Amino acid sequence: MSDCIFCKIASGEIDSEAIYRDDEIIVIKDINPQAPVHLLVIPAKHYQDLTAPEFEAPLMGRLLAKASELGKRYGQENGFRVVINTGRLAGQTVGHVHFHVLSGRELQWPPG
Ligand code: AMP
Ligand code: ZN
Repeated sequence: MSDCIFCKIASGEIDSEAIYRDDEIIVIKDINPQAPVHLLVIPAKHYQDLTAPEFEAPLMGRLLAKASELGKRYGQENGFRVVINTGRLAGQTVGHVHFHVLSGRELQWPPG
């Protein structure tokens, strides 16, 4: 999508220091971190949100596996949280699906 910030990051049109990149997935640090570790696992292809009909299970699975791997690596034994905000009420602000990986501090539950 032409004016989507994550499409531009994935395509390289906007510079970013990717933590990980392959044909399907890019991982970046969140620009406004909510925890000492705050990574975003993003599909290179544009999907509006988790419910997009063309966003299918194999890619969801790959993204979740990457989130798990990163959470384990950066959260170490202290744990981590994976969050997928979907829609306005959940606080989704970027309309390109992404998985947050948060760690490094005590996280509240239930969320605010
Ligand atoms: P959400 O509110 O779930 O849609 O999350 C969007 C996240 O993207 C927020 O945590 C923002 O801080 C983050 N974000 C927005 N623009 C950028 C950017 N250019 N680079 C890194 N993270 C960004
Ligand atoms: Zn996009």
